[in-house]
Amino acid sequence: MSSWGKKVIIGVMLTMILGCEKQETVQPQLDAQGKTMGTFYHVKVVGSYPGGQAALQQQVDALLKHYNDEISTYDKNSALSKFNQFQSTEPFAISQDLADLLICGLRTGEQTGGLLDMTVGPLVNLWGFGPDKRPIKIPSDEQIEKARERVGINKVHVEVSSNHALVRKDQPDVYVDLSTFGEGFGADKVAALLEANGVHNYLVEIAGASRSRGVNAKGQSWRLAIQKPTDEIADVQAIIQPDGRAVSTSGSYRNYYELDGKRFSHVIDPRTGKPITHKLVSATVITPTALEADALDTALMVMGPEKALSFANEQHLPVYLVVKTEKGFEARYSDSFKPYLVQ
Ligand code: FAD
Repeated sequence: MSSWGKKVIIGVMLTMILGCEKQETVQPQLDAQGKTMGTFYHVKVVGSYPGGQAALQQQVDALLKHYNDEISTYDKNSALSKFNQFQSTEPFAISQDLADLLICGLRTGEQTGGLLDMTVGPLVNLWGFGPDKRPIKIPSDEQIEKARERVGINKVHVEVSSNHALVRKDQPDVYVDLSTFGEGFGADKVAALLEANGVHNYLVEIAGASRSRGVNAKGQSWRLAIQKPTDEIADVQAIIQPDGRAVSTSGSYRNYYELDGKRFSHVIDPRTGKPITHKLVSATVITPTALEADALDTALMVMGPEKALSFANEQHLPVYLVVKTEKGFEARYSDSFKPYLVQ
């Protein structure tokens, strides 16, 4: 399935779950939706918005376009692409927003022992999951080693002061890829826009990352579905009530391709330089911001089922995993996830 195809599914699922409830609408709802960051977004606002539906749509579109133009590696003119093209180890001036993203990447990388690695882009591209074309042959060990020489979070340094933000790389050919948590960052920024406009009941989804607050149009707390890792969009694995916290899911079951009879996931293990091969098929994380959740879910996918669960329990992180077994799929979750599950 294309990256566009896989992303629509989460939005459809949420709408379904919310639509299943009894029709007792008490408040009007405004919707904004569209394409961004190679995927889809959907915003629901309960009540009113200054300037109405048209203003909501226009402002969310403009905001997401602004961040896409800043952080996309698919756009050669973005600020991040310009840094990637800057073949020098001299400091490079960036915006405060880009600095915040890079700092989150470095912090989560450290927290996860380098498994979340925003410099993994050369390997992502080599395996055909970035802006470069998909390979027609499995990359050789030599190609993988060559790409790995450019990878490592310790090769990127960010410096922020009251009047500037700078980033510097240790090697001129280091390449930063923020695809893994750009959507979460976007969801946080849309949530901030809504809050600044006096909206306190909303749901924002960009691909697998969401922010919600308050209640839906029926006056009920927002509920979200974690999907079963199948091709059927209607299959629900679990229903959760995030109570104002952000949720993000990463999965290896929709973004993959097959070559020479083998299946290759888009999640790369920086330790091997290769796509993951274990049985963890999806990881859902709940944190205060969508940026944090979207960064952590990919690292959990790299860890695999056992390590991901022990990491979550050690860090008191609400995490829900779906693991492939001989009999089908099995759910495993950390102790702190339980209060969010709707029985
Ligand atoms: P997640 O699990 O959240 O992230 C997985 C992705 O992270 C992989 O695809 C890879 O890029 C990267 N990754 C893999 N392993 C690691 C690791 N160990 N550490 C860190 N990162 C890792 N796609 C398009 O097809 N066209 C576009 O124009 C386009 N524009 C984009 C613009 C922006 C600003 C962003 C943020 C993304 C864009 N994308 C685009 C990418 C796409 O929409 C998704 O971000 C991507 O497919 C992965 O998102 P996910 O939520 O499916 O997976």
